[in-house]
Order: sequence, then structure tokens, then C-alpha cells
Amino acid sequence: MSDAEHAVEPRESVCPFCGVGCSLSYVAQSGKSTGVEGPINTKGEICPKGAAAFDVVEHDDRLTEPLLRDGDGFAPVSWEEALGRIEDRLGTIVSAHGPDAVGFFASSNCTNEENYVLQKLARVLGTNNVDNCARLCHSSTVAAMQDRFGAGAMTNSLSDLGEADAFLVTGANPAEQHPVAFRSYLLPAVRDGATLIHIDPRANDTTDAADVHLPVRPGHDIPLLNAMAAVIVEEGLVDEGFVDRRTTGVEDLRTFLDEVDVAENADLAGVDESDLREAARAYGEADRAAAFTGMGISQHRCGTQNVHALVNLALLTGNVGRRGTGVNPLRGQNNVQGASDVGTLPSVLPGYRDVTDPEDRQAIADEWGVEPPAEPGLTEVEMTHAFGDEIRGAVVLGENPALTEPDGNSVGAKFEELDFLVVIDLFETETAQYADVVLPGSAWAEKSGTVTNTDRQVLRMRPMTDPPGEARRDLNIVTALGERLTDRSFRTAPEAVFDELTRVSPIHGGMSYAGVEEGGQRWPFPAGADSGTQILHRDRFASGERTAPLVPVEHVPPAEDTADDELTLITGRIITHFNSGALTRRSETLSRMADQDALRIHPDAAAERGIDDGDEVRVASERGEVTVPADVTPAVRPGTVFLTFHFEDAPVNRITGDALDPTAKIPEYKHTPVSVEPA
Ligand code: SF4
Repeated sequence: MSDAEHAVEPRESVCPFCGVGCSLSYVAQSGKSTGVEGPINTKGEICPKGAAAFDVVEHDDRLTEPLLRDGDGFAPVSWEEALGRIEDRLGTIVSAHGPDAVGFFASSNCTNEENYVLQKLARVLGTNNVDNCARLCHSSTVAAMQDRFGAGAMTNSLSDLGEADAFLVTGANPAEQHPVAFRSYLLPAVRDGATLIHIDPRANDTTDAADVHLPVRPGHDIPLLNAMAAVIVEEGLVDEGFVDRRTTGVEDLRTFLDEVDVAENADLAGVDESDLREAARAYGEADRAAAFTGMGISQHRCGTQNVHALVNLALLTGNVGRRGTGVNPLRGQNNVQGASDVGTLPSVLPGYRDVTDPEDRQAIADEWGVEPPAEPGLTEVEMTHAFGDEIRGAVVLGENPALTEPDGNSVGAKFEELDFLVVIDLFETETAQYADVVLPGSAWAEKSGTVTNTDRQVLRMRPMTDPPGEARRDLNIVTALGERLTDRSFRTAPEAVFDELTRVSPIHGGMSYAGVEEGGQRWPFPAGADSGTQILHRDRFASGERTAPLVPVEHVPPAEDTADDELTLITGRIITHFNSGALTRRSETLSRMADQDALRIHPDAAAERGIDDGDEVRVASERGEVTVPADVTPAVRPGTVFLTFHFEDAPVNRITGDALDPTAKIPEYKHTPVSVEPA
């Protein structure tokens, strides 16, 4: 790709650190970024992560040349040698074992175009073994919403959600994890009188603004949500007209809810019955009530069922298809929505076309000249479990599964079983330690292309600087791999790749790169639209149906019981760090604000174990342990402890388990029985 296709100018791009999608610019000579007015941050607001976003771009530890495994370390080599080695070794694996012996890990932190080319490469090679880390955060949300509504994305847009009279935020902490969305859209409405209900086992910055806090027992969201639905029925708060016009199955659900004992369910969920009833009334009585969901309910082996129970609440109360309503998953990375939209999932093609549908495969084949394989591939965790067996080689683009997948000690051992591993990244990450070849890729401010934010808006990434040394733009790297590993040529300019995407992906149809450049376009994008569809499911659901089903949802207990002498570990994020911390831990500014992890533990649990605030404690499950200081705080419910997943010196996923949701294959990160004792 020529430099002209990536003309570098000092202009704005999109923050890499969460799905909100704030616009940023570079402050010349300062090494810092500043917010600029954009489609989401309309007044130029940003949070501490956004302000430090350039720290990673200009970091001294950036990889600047390709590396080849040399004993226990790496030796720098030319691009020709590195790409030649990959062609040779992956080619040998494909010849010996077939294309399904290779797995591709796409990135929710890479552009739509980079992810589109990576999944095309996998499928032209002959495998659907391609997945992205949405598998680990919201695959259950997507599965449930796709099943009920026909689209697994935010039903509404951030800008109309400010019109809600009540917010139900469950399993999310937007005040810290999506700060600009919280401060610009939710908080003003709350200050204006909207009710905020917060469901979370840990009180946090979002709780500070809440009217009702339900500190649910981890793994018991279904009894809580069913009890809220039962109160809504019992107190005549059902929107009968909406239910009649837009749903099916209400009689079965009423029969099921008639059997729900609200007091018993509140007890099982570990919340006060009167608080639960207050929350149900606030949600049911509101003219417009909007639900926000996060990983607190998605990362369970019953994650899909949790979201089904939440969807019931929205449908029973008519809170779908209008401004200020809906079910709205808050996405983690800056392109976690887009990576899935463009097809880096093992069971769907670009635009959620079904790999098992011959017509969908043919539509893709008409553009590619190659029909994708018909069998769904393996999901991310399934691929890792198959390393050294069914999967012999892997390509990891901009992700860090060695730190982010559950049961981390086993994950490390599985990586060692691979015959050949390629990692494309900015740094020698924990995953790169297992690689045979490491290719130096591009940071967010060096990229040209598009990302799709949490409310389905496609936003333009613009390069502000060049990659350092011999590092290359990720789109160049994946297209080069495609041309080395297959007999096809791949489009290399971001605009050409996006145009191809609009031809094969129904949800992107009608969009244009120029239109995105002018100010963002939101999918779906019907003919004649200027900015896409702000509110889904208005008259018909995305499924094409006028109605969506109401379904009884039974409680599914967590995979592992917490014994009397154990505590239940949950994990989450803090405002200054992002996912595995591979990027944010390298920011001096952010690390000064929070440079290590701490176990949040309730004073009662700490006293029982002789633990004082600041003491080093050992946190262990049957899979592993970490040692961290204790933060003794009543903010976590008794019986529950909290750690983040950002810190390499306290790799919490050595402890977490890999029980999977049977539908979405998401791991149960949010319920791990642990012993806690002074170190
Ligand atoms: Fe970046 Fe999200 Fe903060 Fe906006 S809210 S500046 S997108 S991390």
C-alpha cells in the first residue's frame, strides 16, 4: 500500500480505549491528546484514558522490526524473512492437516477493514476458525438479542437515551468504564429527575448516582430479573397494548411468573425485597425506561439466559422501539461492535450472514470468487482448548489471550503446544512470549480506516503519524499474509476494503467511505438515509417480524458452588486501565493513577480472616493463585471479592474458570469460588 493511501496529517481520530468512540486530536509537541468535538463527544469531552492515548503510540518499548524465535528469545529479521517463514510453516500445517488446523484471533481494537481482511483470509484459506474477543465479553448478549429481536446490538443511540425517565443499569459501571457516555448522556438525565437503578454486587462510581442499588449475589441475576417482572405483572404495570401488538407468548410467561415468589427470589438474589419492588416500580411506571447491560450479566455460563430475562422486562413494559428505551449493551473496545459486524465470528459471515446458509455463502462467493466453508468454526476459547490437537497453528492480531482467557495457567500450557504461532502487536505482550514470529504492527493513531462504536455508528480513523522503525500498518500486514497464504489478491486501501464490505454485508449496504468521513453513518443504513437507523425495532423487529417472543427463563446456578469457607470472586475494570492493560499499563500517566491491583474485600470477610487494609493476601482457586494487597471496603457485598483483569503481576485469569455458556460459549468470569488468606 502506498503512503498516499495513508496520508499523514495532524487531524483527529477515534480514541482506542472504549466503545463510546470519542474524537481525539494530537497536541503538537506535548505527547498528549485532546478531545475534539465529534459525533459522540459533541463538546470535545474525553476521560483520563483518552487524554493519555498517545502514551502508547510513542512508547519506547514499541516493536520496530519483525522478530523470529531464537531459543528462549527473539532475533530481529527482515520482513521478507518473517513473512517467508510464516508462509512456509502455516503452509506446511495446512498441507498436512487441512485449513481447519489454523486458528485466527481477530481484534476488537483493530479497524473494520483489518478485521474484514483477516476473516476473508481465513475463509479463502478454507476455515471458519476466526473469532474476536467479543466472544469473551458480550457474545451472550448478542446471542439473546439476535434471537429475540433479530439484531445483537444497542437498540437505541446514546443521544436519544438521554430522554429516558428511568435507567436500569445491570452488570455495568459506565461511570468508570464508559465515562463520556455516562457523563454526557445518562448523568444529565438523572440530574434532571430520571431514576437510576443499579444492579451490581459492588458499589462503584455509577452507584453513587443511583436512586436504587441492588447488590445482586453473583450468578443470581435471573431470580432478580424474574422477580422484577413478577412485580410488574402483579402491580398492573404491563403495557398491555404493546404486549398485544408486538409480542407473542405472554400467557406462558404470565403462568411462569405467577409461580415466582418475589420474597424468595429476592432472598436467593441476595437483595432487599422492598428495594427490588421499588426498582421494578420505577422501571415499570416510567414512560420511557432504558436498560444498559454489561459484562456483569453477560460473563456467566447462563449469560444468554440473563439477557433473555432482561429482554422480557423491556417487552413487558413496551420499552422497545422508542426514544429513551431499549436494551443497550455497552461495548468494551473501540471496535468490538465492528469486529463482529464484519464477520470475525466462526458462525457468521460479514453482516451476520449465516455460514450454514447456501444463499449467504453464495452472496459472499460472488464477490470473493471463493465460497466460504459451510461448517461453523471454533470459538476463541474452543480454539485455545484445541491447541496442539485439532489446531496446530494460530495467528493472533492485536489481542492478548494469554492474559485474557480464563484458567490462564492452562492457556499458557496450550500455547506451548502449538506448532507455530504468529503474533501481530505493538509490544512483546504475554501472548507474544509464546510466538514463533512477532510482527510489529500499528497503533491507533497510525491507522486509516473505520471503527463501529457501541451505538452502531461507523467512525473514521485517520492516521496522525507513521509507525516507528520497520513497523507496518496492520492492514498492510494482513493483506500480505493473505497473498502469501492463498492464491487470491486482497484490496489494500482502506476505502476499497470498506467499499467491498458494503457490497457483501447487508447491514453496511448503502454506506460509503465518503459518508463516514463526513460525520459517521449508523447501521442499518436504508436507501436514502443520511445517518442510518437511530432506533431499531420501531414498527418491525430487525428479524423482519412485527412481534418478538416473551419466554419464561429458569434460573441456572453457577458452574461452581462457593463453599462456606470461600468467597466469590468477580472481576471488572477501573477507569484508568483497559482490558489486559497491555496498552494502558505502559502509560506513565495512567500507571501513576493506579499502578497495581488490590483485592476489594468486605470488612466482615476480612475480619474473619485476620486481614487488615493493605495486607498482602493470597487469592486462590483450584486453578491458580495471585497475591495482592487487600482493600477492605464495604463497597463489595459480604461474601464477594473483586479484582481487575488489567495487571500482569496479578493475572486474575489464572484463577477464573472456563465453564462456557452453551449457546454463546462465553466463559463464566463473574463467579469464581476462591479462598482468601493472609500471604
Ligand atoms: Fe476514550 Fe471511552 Fe474515555 Fe471516550 S469515554 S475518551 S472513548 S476511553
